[in-house]
Amino acid sequence: MTDFESYLEQIMQQIRDLRDADFHVCPADSDDTQECTCSNFDLVIDKVDELRHHHNYPQ
Ligand SMILES: [Zn+2]
Repeated sequence: MTDFESYLEQIMQQIRDLRDADFHVCPADSDDTQECTCSNFDLVIDKVDELRHHHNYPQ
């Protein structure tokens, strides 16, 4: 894994930590009619993941 990849991995983990942090209470957890806000975090994770796969960084 390149430095760049591990850096992106760190960013993805930090976003996951924010998603799972106590201050983020998903409305869908207590009420099925409410929209799941976890997906907002997951969308950003997906973008970082995409960058990781498409970026041809020299080893
Ligand atoms: Zn959720």
